[in-house]
Amino acid sequence: MQRGGGPMDRKRISETLDRRLERTSVSTSKIVNERERDRKSMLSGSIGKNTRDKRGLSKNKCSADEYMTDSEESDISGSDEEETSWISWFCNLRGNEFFCEVDDEYIQDDFNLCGLSRQVPYYDYALDLILDVESCNGDMFTEEQNELVESAAEMLYGLIHIRYILTNKGMAGMLEKFKNCDFGRCPSFNCCGQPCLPLGQSYIPRVGTVKLYCPKCEDLYYPRSKYQSNIDAAYFGATFPHLFLMTYGNVVPQKPSQNYVPRIYGFKIHKQ
Ligand SMILES: [Zn+2]
Repeated sequence: MQRGGGPMDRKRISETLDRRLERTSVSTSKIVNERERDRKSMLSGSIGKNTRDKRGLSKNKCSADEYMTDSEESDISGSDEEETSWISWFCNLRGNEFFCEVDDEYIQDDFNLCGLSRQVPYYDYALDLILDVESCNGDMFTEEQNELVESAAEMLYGLIHIRYILTNKGMAGMLEKFKNCDFGRCPSFNCCGQPCLPLGQSYIPRVGTVKLYCPKCEDLYYPRSKYQSNIDAAYFGATFPHLFLMTYGNVVPQKPSQNYVPRIYGFKIHKQ
């Protein structure tokens, strides 16, 4: 075949070129149309935006009263969304800093609550209250009955709490609190502010109150706050601090390097 091709080839080439050009022109016009549409939509968008801005401005020009009402409304709706559970409400009450939040799952397992229905009055209502279960009986109760159920719920929570803090999850929760010094520090000078652990010497409710155990001097102290010193010993128990220190050996402090020695004019006092 000759270079450059015959007339048939040229025709074919020109036809192909024409077709390509046609296609390009179509696509170009398509692009132009699309761009035009985009621009138009952008324009209309910007117009819309301006309108919104204007509305925004006019809103900004609203009187202060109206503005206050708006913010108040939004505050109310915000608080509605963030409903706290009974458990976190209870644990955040003043004086309840020693309690950790017990997992819902733990409470929902009947096995973990074995025997408690005999110890706690209004057991079913108290359990519903702790788990935020809507009870239709709540409306039927008098104010006095509601208070009884409320105090029964506190007792039930405490008796669940003493069991929970001996579990892995419960101990991990108490470790966080220990690290935050939520239980307070040892008042002894030689302990240099050692964080303490809660300890209850009695397992029977309403017999004793909770004390602070210092792992450094291994002694017991009254909690500083009067609210904390009224908490029932039976909600913490005597096992917890020692099992805790065996579990988390890394938080066990060294014994105090020196004990206070009483002296008169610099001389030790004889024991006689
Ligand atoms: Zn101490």
